Amino acid sequence: MSLFDGEIVVNERVDPPLVVPVTAEPVMIEVVRACHFKAKPPEEVKGRKVKRRGCARCGLGKGDIAHMGAPPSFNALASGQGSGNAMVYAGLKARWQEVLTERLAATDLPKGLAHVLVEGEITFPDRGRRDQGNFRVIVEKALGDALVEGWWLADDSWDFYSFGNLEARYVKGESATRLYLFPTLP
Ligand SMILES: [Zn+2]
Repeated sequence: MSLFDGEIVVNERVDPPLVVPVTAEPVMIEVVRACHFKAKPPEEVKGRKVKRRGCARCGLGKGDIAHMGAPPSFNALASGQGSGNAMVYAGLKARWQEVLTERLAATDLPKGLAHVLVEGEITFPDRGRRDQGNFRVIVEKALGDALVEGWWLADDSWDFYSFGNLEARYVKGESATRLYLFPTLP
């Protein structure tokens, strides 16, 4: 049954009826750094240097969305020893998942998709040499889990979720992650 062009009713026993688009449009989500985090200089307290929290430029915490742009490199976490790195990874991945879930919720991406193909583009503020793999890990895992958390996908296994190419570009001073999602309806 079609209410009007471009939508089908999947459940008419609820009010308003649950409708989904017949064709799912690609959506783009982005995380663009608003402020390049700069640690505040330590403070002297009774002759001791004490670290101060927050950013010297904007005052916000280091983990604030304002400081997020290109994803963190996995290399820095994986090259160290011990369980501390696993905890840092888990924390970063959870934060990215939270932000990507918010970004997805602001789009018209239909829930209950059969498949999502993702193409990504990362903008770096400088021309450093980087390995693609190191920048895929956190964003690929976090996006897959965000798609499941928000019910866009039932599962983020390979059959449902495919993270395709990841391009890098350089724009002086810009740090950003842009993700293009190509959904397939059931
Ligand atoms: Zn800042």
